[in-house]
Amino acid sequence: MPNEISSSRTLHRLIYTSRQAFAAGLGHDQEIEALIRASIRNNRASAITGLLLVHDGWFVQALEGPAAAVMTTYQRILNDPRHTDSRVVSAGPGGAREFGDWNMCARRFSPADDAILDALSQRSAFDPSALTDKSALRLLKAVRGIQDRTALSA
Ligand code: FAD
Repeated sequence: MPNEISSSRTLHRLIYTSRQAFAAGLGHDQEIEALIRASIRNNRASAITGLLLVHDGWFVQALEGPAAAVMTTYQRILNDPRHTDSRVVSAGPGGAREFGDWNMCARRFSPADDAILDALSQRSAFDPSALTDKSALRLLKAVRGIQDRTALSA
């Protein structure tokens, strides 16, 4: 069945937003470092790439890879108590990988960064609840572009 064969090879991309919900204890930076370490380890093993934006109390993450691996990973992430109010912004076939290097993880950038604010199409508070499938991808690609240029990383 050609369709089944091609769909099993199709790259899937899921983008979601959620709110940070770290328990008191470890510092915020340490929590993020631990989360990223586990993510890199697991994602490499599952052929998943992506980008995690950590900003202003929010997460915005893209996960790309084989559909089953993406969904399994997202289900695991969904159960993680370190965030809440997860909302899938888009999910489906994704063409080529946009975020080939998982080691990109933006978490501190200047509010004056025009590329990001332009991508958000707003100049007020960071508000991922307004992101759509297109604007979320645009935002993450803008962050990726900035990281490529400045090596701004976790
Ligand atoms: P370990 O890091 O060894 O943790 C073991 C268990 O303890 C897990 O159940 C974990 O959820 C829990 N845990 C660890 N630290 C804490 C803590 N400080 N507070 C509460 N519970 C804790 N995982 C991926 O594999 N890929 C991703 O791309 C990815 N992205 C994430 C994005 C966000 C926003 C969040 C919140 C989590 C993400 N995770 C990701 C982590 C994921 O939710 C699981 O914690 C992780 O995949 C479990 O891997 P592990 O068994 O190697 O975990």
